[in-house]
Amino acid sequence: MAMKYVQTTCPYCGTGCSMNLVVNDGKVVGVAPYQRSPVNEGKLCPKGVYAHEFINSEDRLTTPLIKKDGKFVEASWDEAYDLIAQKLKSYKPSELAVLASARVSNEENYAIMKFARGALKTTHIDHCARLCHSSSVAGLATTFGSGAMTNSIADIAESKCIFIIGSNTFEQHPLIGRSVARARKNGAKLIYADPRLTATGKQADLYMQFRSGTDVAIFNAMMQEIIKNGWEDKEFIEKRCVEYETLKGEVMKPEYSLENVEKISGIPAAQLKQAAEWYATSGASSLLFSMGITQHTTGVDNVKSTANLAMLTGNIGRPGTGVNPLRGQNNVQGACDMGCLPVVFTGYQKVIDEAAHKKFADAWGFPDGICAPQNGYEVTIMMKTLADNPGELKGMYIMGENPMLSDANLTHVKHAMEQLEFLVVQDIFLTETAEMADVVLPATCYAEKDGCQTSTERRVQRFRKAQDPPGQAKVDWQIIAEVAAKMGYAEQFAWQSSEDIFKEITSLTPSYGGMSYERINKPEALQWPCPAADHPGTPILHTTAFAPAMPDSKGLMTAIPFKYPAEVPDAEYPFILTTGRSLFHWHTGGMTRRSESLDSEVPTGWIEINVDDAKELGIADNEMIIAKTRRGQINVPARVTKDIMKGVMFMPFHFVECAANILTNDALDPVSKIPEFKACAVTVEKIQEA
Ligand code: SF4
Repeated sequence: MAMKYVQTTCPYCGTGCSMNLVVNDGKVVGVAPYQRSPVNEGKLCPKGVYAHEFINSEDRLTTPLIKKDGKFVEASWDEAYDLIAQKLKSYKPSELAVLASARVSNEENYAIMKFARGALKTTHIDHCARLCHSSSVAGLATTFGSGAMTNSIADIAESKCIFIIGSNTFEQHPLIGRSVARARKNGAKLIYADPRLTATGKQADLYMQFRSGTDVAIFNAMMQEIIKNGWEDKEFIEKRCVEYETLKGEVMKPEYSLENVEKISGIPAAQLKQAAEWYATSGASSLLFSMGITQHTTGVDNVKSTANLAMLTGNIGRPGTGVNPLRGQNNVQGACDMGCLPVVFTGYQKVIDEAAHKKFADAWGFPDGICAPQNGYEVTIMMKTLADNPGELKGMYIMGENPMLSDANLTHVKHAMEQLEFLVVQDIFLTETAEMADVVLPATCYAEKDGCQTSTERRVQRFRKAQDPPGQAKVDWQIIAEVAAKMGYAEQFAWQSSEDIFKEITSLTPSYGGMSYERINKPEALQWPCPAADHPGTPILHTTAFAPAMPDSKGLMTAIPFKYPAEVPDAEYPFILTTGRSLFHWHTGGMTRRSESLDSEVPTGWIEINVDDAKELGIADNEMIIAKTRRGQINVPARVTKDIMKGVMFMPFHFVECAANILTNDALDPVSKIPEFKACAVTVEKIQEA
């Protein structure tokens, strides 16, 4: 068989880089550049370069598995489907919960959303956007009327000032970092705020090191300084925003003086003043953030603060400006767009809205109706419900997610999952979560299916099939359709291809309404909103007005009082622990840890400790130590560095052998229900020799 190239989209971060998979003898053997993509122009980061290595791993699941007497035994698809259909039909809708996936295609997420709300009739569907950018969706939807990145990746290069807070862009979204570097080459100033001096911070013109969890105080201090100096954009505020006086009333309080916020955050007053001036007066400032902003009990407040700052200075709706949450996983934007959230159908049409509920019920045509017009549980609330009210939730269906490593306070999550009577997991590997399942279904990876995904800049791009799946593995939408057929809903899931599903999505989703496979097959694909077949897509949101969802299409400014994290250091746990990622790994490591090239770069986890703290504690670089919080303890190697703030420690969360999430705090933001991964109290100890 001849060698061929198949053009597709990288399965890792939300940047959405295009690439070619190299196929030889029917098997993917490598990755090659695809120059025509406007996103990455043929360039890839290490994860993209080695994105082929896990595909044919020996660990791939190849046959359905059913647990009998505590052990998995191989089963036929029919045996597995019969058991699943019989069990799921035995529960009430409210006893069932579903997790969709930020790494599978839009079509597959739509399929499981329809399965949950139509076949199971449950309101409880969510996915791991809850753990990363639920605060962005909630915060920006409230202030601008739309919860996505306002501008495009290429547009960042047009900025005159880029303010990055809570995002290690150069390592976590390297091809977005390229736009930042281009802007700097053209003379833009780069302001970087983070507790760690990361690779991104090392490129900054101004680096502000701060205590994790003090973001709102920092934003309020910058806004106070802007108003004091008359740097606010009075015309923009007057024409495009409401509640300016409310915002001003809060940020002008003495507690947000530069000197006071220096004490709260650790950022010198002169740096805060410089950041305020550069951001407000550059003429085109772009604000980028990621999970350093969102993963807090004040995550929504933090996001609203980014919106306040952009609106105050008129840095929205123009090239080189904007509020840009950088989404972590390849299709976390798409999974949200597809309604895999407990409150919305596709395109953020509310489940509790009578007209939207009727629209989906009528279009789907389930003879026995669909879920109630009610909001369901978020994944974090599912876990709390399982643990605290045993028997309320009984069955769970998980597609391509691994809460047993990704969620906060893993001991609690394990206890919660153990309360389930019946768990189905469909995935490509036997993950920590799949090991707990009653039935495991072998699914396909990105290289074995057609479909599309939506990147962080709202760009809907194609996956393309490059090889056949291993063994009996099937594409996720096909598995869901076959389970649904066993439950008596063959007619509602009678798709023959991913394109059939996409047509159904576009017919029900106004923001995708003008899209088709023909249109998104082009190298530049399309950015939503794209409401009509002749619409060119939308690279920049809010150019002349905010979203129609906002009263008078105006941006809402909000007074945000500063609050400390749920857990702050004390005598017993004297340090702040924050968590994040490695350049070479992705999420819970299922794919990257099975990539020899990536895993050999970073084979295990670590805890970063400031050099002065390490000296005081007598801890040496690379020494195995105990890290302990109120939720558990782990043994982990120390990485002693001057790049992290004194009093703060950092751990990546990819590694099961030193799982950071055993330590993290599952206290939730009251609105977005995101856990506080980015700040909890920790202590470390030397391991005593026996
Ligand atoms: Fe893949 Fe993201 Fe790297 Fe691009 S930047 S190659 S999308 S991991």
